Amino acid sequence: MAEDCIFCKIASGEIKGNVVYQDERVTAFRDLNPQAPTHVLVIPNRHIADVRELDDPELSLALMRGCRAVAEQEGLGSGWRLVTNVGPDSGQTVFHLHWHVLGGRKMGWPPFPA
Ligand code: AMP
Repeated sequence: MAEDCIFCKIASGEIKGNVVYQDERVTAFRDLNPQAPTHVLVIPNRHIADVRELDDPELSLALMRGCRAVAEQEGLGSGWRLVTNVGPDSGQTVFHLHWHVLGGRKMGWPPFPA
């Protein structure tokens, strides 16, 4: 657990998040500022800053399975999007790896505003 990391605290239960899925490796909780009807963040329980530090195959798969479990739970059968921001230029603001699971509305492409 990294000191002063809000997502570490949500994963450990020290701070209450709106948790929708949890297992021994990953935690999923609703984003405070949702960008779609479903906007859930899927994180590793242990601190990893971003995908550049993700080299554990079991954890990588657990994260993907967590994303899939969320999409199924949320009934996102007609399509959903996975986003992870990597570093400041991407817009990353919380430096604990998280996948955004977004769905429940039609989405545009490319994903960034002009
Ligand atoms: P990013 O900009 O990719 O780093 O995404 C960080 C996301 O975390 C944003 O969408 C925020 O709305 C969300 N967020 C920040 N703090 C919390 C929190 N305490 N609980 C839930 N979501 C949060």
